[in-house]
Amino acid sequence: MADTKVVVQNLKKSFGDNEVLKGIDMEITEGEVVCIIGPSGSGKSTFLRCLNGLEEITGGTVLVDKVDITNPKTDINKVREEIGMVFQHFNLFPHLTVSENITLAPVELKRMTKEDAHKKALDLLKTVGLSEKAEVYPNSLSGGQKQRVAIARALAMNPDIMLFDEPTSALDPEMVGEVLEVMKKLAKDGMTMVVVTHEMGFAREVGDRVIFMDGGYIVEQGTPEEVFQNTQHPRTQDFLNKVL
Ligand code: ADP
Ligand code: MG
Repeated sequence: MADTKVVVQNLKKSFGDNEVLKGIDMEITEGEVVCIIGPSGSGKSTFLRCLNGLEEITGGTVLVDKVDITNPKTDINKVREEIGMVFQHFNLFPHLTVSENITLAPVELKRMTKEDAHKKALDLLKTVGLSEKAEVYPNSLSGGQKQRVAIARALAMNPDIMLFDEPTSALDPEMVGEVLEVMKKLAKDGMTMVVVTHEMGFAREVGDRVIFMDGGYIVEQGTPEEVFQNTQHPRTQDFLNKVL
């Protein structure tokens, strides 16, 4: 039996009067790939940010590896080191080379020596197909290459869980595939992943579970087949009709 990595119970999040998450319950098992789909504004990004403590939650609990991240006594930075995050807009440091972007966190946090971190960076760049780009600056890279570097950077901390927030939404269409390929490889290697995406093909092919969020709720979830072929809820069907 695989371990439960994340337990979310009745998670609520408001910004002022705006209740964005209205009671989310979810468990994520080690090695599982969970794809979250849903319309813009439904709370997908907020949900991801609650999983690694980037948002202070309004109610409920979030357990990561049995650690309650909402407990003020929890060292949230320690938890965050276990969770890699990849954003729509790469967020690479422009004044650092690709390898410096990747080694920054492990070296700063004294997880590795500079030499070991550099070696690991080269390994990771090989994994994402960018061996030859270690010493260039991000602005010389295409969007797809930048996003692959961002994935390598997140992996440099040896995370247990990877969160992706629309990692291909800012890319030109011809670059989407190369990023999805890297994510697919990660999934195959057993990484626990939560992926907010509009790539229904990816969700269908790589997702173990698909979650449809709307209006701050999980409206429907199941295997890709259940959600895409045997849709239960009219709101899900309506969304799928628009995006497929
Ligand atoms: P999604 O990722 O599904 O498009 P978001 O989680 O980004 O949705 O946003 C859900 C809602 O939360 C939106 O109404 C948005 O305006 C609001 N929201 C998100 N972040 C903030 C914030 N930092 N301050 C105030 N409102 C926010
Ligand atoms: Mg979003």
